[in-house]
This record gives sequence, C-alpha cells and structure tokens, in this order.
Amino acid sequence: MSALRSLILAAADSSRMQRFVRRYGFRLGAARFVAGESLDAAVPVLRRLNDQGLLTNTTLLGEGVSDEAETRAVVDAYREVLDRIHAEALRTNVALKLTHLGLSIDEEVARCNLAELVEQAAQLGNFVRIDMEESRHVDATLRIYRRLREDGHENVGAVLQAYLFRAEEDLAALLPLAPNLRLVKGAYLEPPEIAYPRKADVDAAYVRLLETSLRADGFTAVATHDETLIEHAISFADERGIPKERFQFQMLYGVRSRLQLDLARRGFDVLVATPYGPEWYRYLMRRLAERPANVLFLLRNLVRA
Ligand SMILES: Cc1cc2nc3c(=O)[nH]c(=O)nc-3n(C[C@H](O)[C@H](O)[C@H](O)COP(=O)(O)OP(=O)(O)OC[C@H]3O[C@@H](n4cnc5c(N)ncnc54)[C@H](O)[C@@H]3O)c2cc1C
Repeated sequence: MSALRSLILAAADSSRMQRFVRRYGFRLGAARFVAGESLDAAVPVLRRLNDQGLLTNTTLLGEGVSDEAETRAVVDAYREVLDRIHAEALRTNVALKLTHLGLSIDEEVARCNLAELVEQAAQLGNFVRIDMEESRHVDATLRIYRRLREDGHENVGAVLQAYLFRAEEDLAALLPLAPNLRLVKGAYLEPPEIAYPRKADVDAAYVRLLETSLRADGFTAVATHDETLIEHAISFADERGIPKERFQFQMLYGVRSRLQLDLARRGFDVLVATPYGPEWYRYLMRRLAERPANVLFLLRNLVRA
C-alpha cells in the first residue's frame, strides 16, 4: 500500500479535515463521484447512465450508525429508493452497507433490517448487494448473507476483498450457494497481518478469486477499473466458454467513464455504482486514497473557485 494512500485514509478520521472537506468538498470534487445530495438529484443521473446502455446501482451514503432508531430511518429511505426505481423503470439495483443498517449495534438488528429490504426488492423484481466494509465486519456480513440465502432469498449478493488473506477461503465456503459475488481489491486501511500490503500481491489474489469464481456456478461482478484484470476476465471467460450472462463489470461513477462505455459497446454488461446523499465524506476520502492524483483534482478546483 502506498504511503500516501495510508496517509489519506488515516487523515480521514481527523475532525478538522472532516470540517474542511464537508464544507467545500461537494462543490469542489465530490460531485464527480456522487450523483447528488438527494434521491431527486440522483434519479436523472441514473437515467442518463441507463440511456447510455449502462446498468446502475445506487447507495444512500452512510455507515457506522450507532442508534437503532436511526437505522429505521435508513430502512425507510431505502424502501423509498426501491419504490422510486420501480416507478421510474430504472435499470438500477441497490448496494448498501450493513453498518448503515445497524451492524455496529447488533448483528440481529442489521439482519432484520436487511431482510426487510431484500423482501421488498424481491417483490419489485430488484436485487440488493451487501457492500463489504472493514475487516472486523467480514464475519458478521458473510453470516448474514449466508442466512438470507438459506432462508430462500435469491436476490441478494455479497462482496469479497482480494487484499484480505482470507478471501480465497471465504470464496470456497460460499461457492456451494452459487453466490452472486462482487470481487473488489479492497478500499480500507488494513494491517499487514491480515491483508496484502503490496499492490502486486493484491492483483495476483484478485486473479485467483476471479478465475475460481468464474469457473464455478453463480454470478461474478468484476468490480475494478484495472484494464489488465478486465481483459483477463474477458479472455478467461472466452477461452472456457463462460457465457456473458454469468458475469458483469462494475465500476464507480466518475471513474474511467470511457472504459465503461467501451465495454458496454463490446456487448458486456457494465454496472456503474452511483451513490448519493449528504453523507459523502468517507466515500470521497476512499476515492482520494485509491488515486492520490484525485487530491490534485480537488486542489485544482479549490484554486479555480
Ligand atoms: C463497483 C465497485 C464496488 C466496490 N465495492 C467495494 C466494497 O464493497 N468494499 C471495498 O472494500 N471496496 C469496494 N470497492 C473499491 C475497491 O476495493 C477499490 O478500492 C477500487 O475499485 C480501486 O481499485 P481498482 O480495482 O479499480 O484497481 P486500482 O489498481 O486501484 O486502479 C486501477 C486503475 O483504475 C483507476 N482508478 C482506480 N480508482 C480510482 C479512483 N478512485 N479515481 C480515479 N481513478 C481510479 C486508475 O486509472 C487506476 O490506475 C468497489 C469498487 C467498485 C468499482
């Protein structure tokens, strides 16, 4: 992991930094990565992406909720999101974080909140992806995913992070469920005792996860902007006759937009993860840490403003 990446992720916790970025950040840079501060602002963005031939998911930004009543408000907000997607006939599903639904308070609270949303999504023919957060939440998140699948919910998926040593074992344990899995490199600050510090090792682990997942039953969401990995997925699937319906590419709103369109034109399903909401600070900091050049982008806007 680059020193700059660690520095940005560590600085994200500073309250001074938060105050400064929250005050100026949306106008100066967050708008590149976030579809708006409200659902009303996000809907036209989702529609435009759909019109360009891209699938989308959306997320009400937020995480680490510590008050149970607040998690109910989050559930209500997501119920509205699901209804709105249906009413507007968007090709959009939902991705959410379990700590937004109460995982840091109590696993059962988060599971019940999620089950309610997954049921509503099923009634509307929609799908819910459970994002993966810091390593301390991985066990509970995978337990909840497994429980939902065992309870008969098919319209729910999980995420595995290639930087974690444990990811390959987690994948092997999930494969009997024919899981719908999004594979990512991993966006958090994790210690070298549990996660590969070197990018080359993360990339190699990603290839192993990708090949195992594509070869198995289930569905693989190849969530990366790394063109080498994307082309590897395409040739691997091609050589083994794995149909295009069994995988899709996923990228973030505001990142490598041309590549998103190129892949869609080549006939692949491409989903653009398009979050919204006033709680964009931590999301923005992770995007800056992934590509420290994004900090320059923000600073340039600051100078121009
Ligand atoms: C759809 C989606 C969902 C995700 N969900 C999760 C999740 O649930 N949990 C989790 O831990 N992580 C998640 N991530 C983030 C992921 O873990 C990585 O941090 C992120 O995708 C950057 O890694 P990369 O695979 O693109 O490869 P990298 O090697 O980091 O980047 C490859 C190239 O992509 C471009 N790029 C990458 N990131 C950026 C950026 N922020 N701004 C501009 N250009 C960039 C650059 O050109 C870079 O050279 C998700 C990512 C995507 C795309």
